[in-house]
Amino acid sequence: MTEAVTRAARTGRAVPDARSPSPATCGACGADADWHRTVRGRWVMIEPGELPARVVPAGSRWRVAGDGTAVNLGPAVPSDTCRVSHFDVCPGRPAPTGAPVLLALRRGHARRTT
Ligand SMILES: [Zn+2]
Repeated sequence: MTEAVTRAARTGRAVPDARSPSPATCGACGADADWHRTVRGRWVMIEPGELPARVVPAGSRWRVAGDGTAVNLGPAVPSDTCRVSHFDVCPGRPAPTGAPVLLALRRGHARRTT
């Protein structure tokens, strides 16, 4: 099952399925991230890996639910870790302000692509 989903995600370049995150490469910087659908029906690229929630500014904290839906946590900190959107750390986008951890991630992406 997992293998089938992975294969479908790799070959199916059509509209991603909310239940099977679609691996993608950012067109702006070349970083790898996963597309997830939000509760509002938008799509966000979520960075691989988790970060300590306390170092991520409120509004940039995301959680991926069991069904693959990306949930913005806002100021809530329901667990010790959270995910971040690639959009917040993409060197092809305006730099995030006041968030050293996001700036560090962004620098990491910028370094890899140069
Ligand atoms: Zn990017």
